[in-house]
Amino acid sequence: MSSSPKAGVDFFRHGALPVPQVTTQQAERIAASFGLTVRAQPLGSQQDSNFLLADGDRVLGVLKIANPAFGAGEIEAQDRAAGRVAESGGLRAGTVLHGPVEVPVDGGAALARVLRYLPGGTLAGAGRYLSPRVVAGLGAVAGQVSLALRSFEHPGLDRVLQWDLRHAMRLVDTLAGHVRDTGLRARVTSAAEAAWSRVEPLAGRLPWQAVHGDVTDDNVVCSVRRGLRTPDGIIDFGDLTSSWAVGELAVAITSVLRHAGAEPCSVLPAVRAFHALRPLSAEEAAVLWPLVLMRAAVLVVSGEQQAAVDGVNDYVTGALEHERRLFERAMSVPVEVMTGLILAGLGLGGEPLQVSSETVLDLGRIAVLDLSVLSDAVDEGAWLEPGFEDRLAAGWLAEGYDAVATRFGEARLTATRVLSEVSPATVATGIDLWTAAPVEFPDGLTVRGDGKRVHVSLPVPGAPEVPPLVRPEYATGWLSLVADPTVLLGLPAASPTDGDLLERRQASFAAVQEHYYADPPRIERGWRHYLAATDGRVYLDMVNNVTVLGHAHPRVEAAVARQLRRLNTNSRFNYASVVEFAERLAGLLPEPLEVVFLVNSGSEAVDLALRLALVATGHRDVVAVREAYHGWTYASDAVSTSTADNPNALSTRPPWVHIVDAPNSYRGRYRGTGADTGADTGSVRYAGDAVRAIAELAAAGRPPAAFLAEPYYGNAGGMPLPDGYLAAVYAEVRRHGGLAIADEIQVGYGRLGRWFWGFEQQGVVPDVVTVAKAMGNGYPLGAVVTSRDIAERYRDAGYFFSSTGGSPVSSVAGLTVLDVIRDEGLQANAARVGSHLKARLEELAVRHALIGAVHGSGLYLGVEFVRDRETLEPATEETAAICDRMLELGVIIQPTSDRMCVLKIKPPLCLDVAGADFFADALDRVLTEGY
Ligand code: PMP
Repeated sequence: MSSSPKAGVDFFRHGALPVPQVTTQQAERIAASFGLTVRAQPLGSQQDSNFLLADGDRVLGVLKIANPAFGAGEIEAQDRAAGRVAESGGLRAGTVLHGPVEVPVDGGAALARVLRYLPGGTLAGAGRYLSPRVVAGLGAVAGQVSLALRSFEHPGLDRVLQWDLRHAMRLVDTLAGHVRDTGLRARVTSAAEAAWSRVEPLAGRLPWQAVHGDVTDDNVVCSVRRGLRTPDGIIDFGDLTSSWAVGELAVAITSVLRHAGAEPCSVLPAVRAFHALRPLSAEEAAVLWPLVLMRAAVLVVSGEQQAAVDGVNDYVTGALEHERRLFERAMSVPVEVMTGLILAGLGLGGEPLQVSSETVLDLGRIAVLDLSVLSDAVDEGAWLEPGFEDRLAAGWLAEGYDAVATRFGEARLTATRVLSEVSPATVATGIDLWTAAPVEFPDGLTVRGDGKRVHVSLPVPGAPEVPPLVRPEYATGWLSLVADPTVLLGLPAASPTDGDLLERRQASFAAVQEHYYADPPRIERGWRHYLAATDGRVYLDMVNNVTVLGHAHPRVEAAVARQLRRLNTNSRFNYASVVEFAERLAGLLPEPLEVVFLVNSGSEAVDLALRLALVATGHRDVVAVREAYHGWTYASDAVSTSTADNPNALSTRPPWVHIVDAPNSYRGRYRGTGADTGADTGSVRYAGDAVRAIAELAAAGRPPAAFLAEPYYGNAGGMPLPDGYLAAVYAEVRRHGGLAIADEIQVGYGRLGRWFWGFEQQGVVPDVVTVAKAMGNGYPLGAVVTSRDIAERYRDAGYFFSSTGGSPVSSVAGLTVLDVIRDEGLQANAARVGSHLKARLEELAVRHALIGAVHGSGLYLGVEFVRDRETLEPATEETAAICDRMLELGVIIQPTSDRMCVLKIKPPLCLDVAGADFFADALDRVLTEGY
């Protein structure tokens, strides 16, 4: 086409560009001129006219009729740049398919072309949460675009755009008058001026190049794989120009702030991802947040101008509200803090601020308070008591100390909040002092407070006001603005922190010894149903079934400590506690389960149970169910069939193990329980198959020694077995001389609420029961309980002694746990809080299609996620992402089942309704906002 070279558009001459008016019929005619017989559907745009072109369900492209203000050179530059990005590999790009051709619009002429449509959808939608993984993906797209365009040159880049951050200050000055709210106008203008004063001195040192200029959530396209979005494409090169390279990133990360739950630190994964591809210089890193503020200011004033042009309607008001909120979020943390955080995050930060090493104040005899998670002073939930710090300090002063001081930079557990979806401000930016007598502080120290308790800090000159406590995510940024007053106050210097714990862990652990979360918090304290990390964040613990009473229960601690002082030996000695414990345990079980073997773990218990069965029956084979985990010792591992725990489980079981279907009436071979679908399905069929398998083994001359299963299916997600299942299978295995073993290690001990033991739900009595986990509230205990007859036969062929199983300390721990379960009514609490929680979760299932089912009883619940309620396709990746997001919101929860698509809800039984509601609310939020 003939294109007379014409200078590019200049926003400051044109002002806002009205969108060319094109009807759907016109659009379809233009498409036809490209040989496309399609339906056109209008798409929104700010300056061009766009239509989606589809032939039935097949999308053929996007028709773009450029604003007549844009010249052919500019359009050509955009199409070439898109081509350049597409060729660079790694990214999809909205390249040109047809055109451009000149078409008449609004009495003039505009350039029309058809661009490639990239399926998968964009990241747009302010109500949607962007995970750190997705934010990193957005940063990587910006980095890839930047690299692809690095040497791109074209005369069509020469234009003056509203969105080019080089012109941001001029733009804000030009358009600020449109902001009707004068308070907002003043804030936006002064924020822009302050930010600009940081950019301007470095402007000459900022590399510039061709930039896309609009790598935002609106223009970044994702591939959706396994239910999760991964940014991998870029569309709309309409804002292509030459500008500061770092602007590409600034624009991208500003768009993150629009999203649900986003705050300034949410952008950091994008910054790191960009930097990994296209390293930022120290100057670029230093102007990044100021440019975010400029972009936010530009969005506010531009939105207000648009509203002035288009008139204020609901849509415009909504958009303005978004821009305004984005601006407030960008402003919510001082620019110095964000810059410090960014520099440190990229390894570009400076040394900690130094002060003279001389003491300037003699405070006399000083007691230093440790308020961290590791402090003994905060034991037994003392950190939850209001005024605790002051009382602690008063205690030291009463003992004759002249002063009491806290520690600089310490994350204080005493400052935390429980059940909080955002991390509380816990990190100290100064030192708190309590003094016996009034103190004259020398100049140079910033002292705040009322005399009895003051906060002393050393902010750098010109720093914004630094709060006494800041949130851990921002601590590096805040601490770059204050010096450490420890030495000035004559306090002992803090000991250096130990290196990266995860790295050290990996150096001395094998890969099979997994840990929760890719980037786990460091948990060093527990209390009731809470877990506290070293940064002072307290999480709601929804997974620790072992600590059935709650973490750090004082009665267990006291009983164990007392017994350790008195006696700890082995059960060949004659002492009372082991007898009492065995009696208590047996007393909780029906006849004829009366003989107790005490061991140290569930694996040992299962191992011993199997050996009892082999010896007592003289048989050599065992029948187990699919999807089971029973332990890691040789025999307990042999009957563990869960492919989530061991991907090769099913192909590597020894020949004496025979596997029957998991009686999973939600998604197994047979669906529905006998109760709700009639006698012909569920229980009867699963039981029938298992009975047949046992009969066939017997017929082949290999009658099983035992049938072993969890009597309530914990490992599959907390599911009841179909009605009558165990009755039928136990009868068959016994008919052939075998034993029924119930593994109660997860589900027993009151957790199910209505039943103390899982087998009660099935109305059966096993021959052998294995118990562990909850028995010791975290102290290692396990047990096998069986009949006298079976136990006695073991004498003939086996030996049993455990050095610590049934030791006085173990026995006392076990007795105390039983006492507390009784005294605190924990089984009843499991029933009460569990049914409340289950009802809440069932209500969520009505509103969120991802929830396929809510399983379980009491405080063993399972929320199963599926991509489709018909096919029950497991939402495995979604479940992992949901667990990661729940951690951000302060909840520890993990997936289970062979498909890892069930949230296993098995908290300490002291969970209260407030905790249950917090969990349900957080899950509701995650399912609403995304993950
Ligand atoms: N059986 C079941 C049902 C279990 O859940 C577990 C532990 N997850 C075990 C046995 C093994 O117990 P332990 O880890 O104490 O060896």
